[in-house]
Amino acid sequence: MEIMQDVQVAGRRFAGAGETDAIIIGAGISGMFMLYRLRELGLTSRVFEAGSDVGGTWYWNRYPGARFDSESWTYGYSFSKELMQEWDWKEHFSPQPDTLAYLNYVADKFDLRRDMQFDSRVKSAHWNDADNRWTVTLESGEQASAPLLFTAMGVLSSPTLPAIPGRDSFAGPTYHPGLWPHEKVDFTGKRVGIIGTGATAIQAIPEIAKEAKQLTVFQRRPNWAAPLHNAKIGKEEMEAIKARYDEIYAQCRATATSFIHNADPRGTFEVSPEEREAFWEKLYAEPGFGIWVGNFRDILIDEKANAEISKFIAKKIRERVKDPKVAELLVPKDHGFGTRRVPLESGYFEAYNRDNVLLVDIMKDQPLECITPKGVKTSKQEYEFDILIYSTGFDGVTGAFDRVDFRGPGGVRLGDIWVDGQPRTFLGMLAEGFPNLLMVLGPHTARGNIPHGIEHCVEWQTGLVRFMQEHGYTRVEARPEAVADWTNTVLKASERLLSQNVDSWQTGVNRNVEGRLVRRVLGYNGHAVTYRKKTDEVAAQGYKELNFR
Ligand SMILES: Cc1cc2nc3c(=O)[nH]c(=O)nc-3n(C[C@H](O)[C@H](O)[C@H](O)COP(=O)(O)OP(=O)(O)OC[C@H]3O[C@@H](n4cnc5c(N)ncnc54)[C@H](O)[C@@H]3O)c2cc1C
Repeated sequence: MEIMQDVQVAGRRFAGAGETDAIIIGAGISGMFMLYRLRELGLTSRVFEAGSDVGGTWYWNRYPGARFDSESWTYGYSFSKELMQEWDWKEHFSPQPDTLAYLNYVADKFDLRRDMQFDSRVKSAHWNDADNRWTVTLESGEQASAPLLFTAMGVLSSPTLPAIPGRDSFAGPTYHPGLWPHEKVDFTGKRVGIIGTGATAIQAIPEIAKEAKQLTVFQRRPNWAAPLHNAKIGKEEMEAIKARYDEIYAQCRATATSFIHNADPRGTFEVSPEEREAFWEKLYAEPGFGIWVGNFRDILIDEKANAEISKFIAKKIRERVKDPKVAELLVPKDHGFGTRRVPLESGYFEAYNRDNVLLVDIMKDQPLECITPKGVKTSKQEYEFDILIYSTGFDGVTGAFDRVDFRGPGGVRLGDIWVDGQPRTFLGMLAEGFPNLLMVLGPHTARGNIPHGIEHCVEWQTGLVRFMQEHGYTRVEARPEAVADWTNTVLKASERLLSQNVDSWQTGVNRNVEGRLVRRVLGYNGHAVTYRKKTDEVAAQGYKELNFR
């Protein structure tokens, strides 16, 4: 209420009567919150979403086993205390259907859908310098224009299929976790093949194994994974969580990754081997990401420390997998623990102890040759299936940008500035040379427990819009020197991280996408508090790094 009154004094529209002030691409957590905040500023928006409803990640990823690795009670929006008190999380790590139900609840509560258009994939976004407007064209050919354009397209929203000969020739149904059908896929009595052992496969394999007659897993490179230790949340426990929300969110806001877990201030070798082992046993037995981001402060920057924790996790894998040969295949040898985002699992390693699960090593033992109408052919044999799953991940972070033809003043393409896919941004929120384009959770922002990053970006960007309203500005863009500075800051913040020496979606490597073999820095990998401090300083000092008109 207070904000609305204030806006009536300071507020001003960017578009004429009957026109839209803003276009938002994407109706996930980012797009939904951006719409809500822009309404508070008295602005009108249209949201275009490729899917048929809200939810983003949680709308698309309906595969068996899909769930959070963030604690549910740290993942929800924090902008509305009323909402926080109304919603009951049912599990500590919410399964996809519950998270989607939560996002539907938010959309209903704040009546968000009335400004949203679904089944509407944006194909291009072109800037018109003469009237300071973006024109967006959908795949259907429909066009819309507005002075402000917000991208809320997600960092894991561009599924990639494997670049394998014959991929489309398989006669049975094929699925990708990020494009999973809305109806339940029945695996009962079926021979199922799954290609890929990344985060989505690690969640799906134990679930599918319970139903399928036979599940064959084709693994190129194993990933480290640690137990999730999920549990239900009872009514009383949920009430206790609600009573502590201020404290919980304050704690997340103080950590490097916005998760509830904070790095231990000790170095790995500052404690005795016995103490180290006991600490790791404790972390391994605890729910969530403690084993990754609540570990000794040096495991992700010091090779020797990283080798020690990797040894510990490898031992756990060997303990959990009965067949030593299979266990050995499941222990990663090409990267250390935690240098890729660690998938959290529920019975993943035990799934390989089942008689109906077979692990096939397609890296060394029997390289994959092609997909056939019957199944998968390796150098040794042809495997026949009823169902094939391509669990081959996403074109991370910049993938959604590459799929839209963004053109700034003079027809300059985003790709001309982001040479070889290396983003150039100011704070990860403004792209160099692209006026009035604001990116929620764009490349070069701090991620971690993602909704915290999203809320911060939305608050910062609506603060900027409000500043423009107050000063009567209609155009904003980042100064080139500010972009150069920030891009440099981002590169520097990653320098010491072992993860930068590893291929992953976080470093922008994806063998299934042409031109994506070179590692890039795609996020601000410094402390989340430092990121927020820097961005808040820019705002407090009147956005000196930006040019306004
Ligand atoms: C399986 C899985 C599990 C995850 N688990 C966690 C977790 O536990 N914790 C965590 O912090 N993060 C997790 N993430 C990351 C997750 O993506 C974010 O937490 C969050 O959902 C991002 O919200 P978003 O709105 O920014 O993006 P998304 O949820 O990705 O939404 C973006 C939307 O934009 C739409 N879109 C994209 N391009 C276009 C276009 N050109 N035209 C129209 N629409 C478009 C997409 O269809 C999508 O609906 C997970 C991701 C995956 C895939």
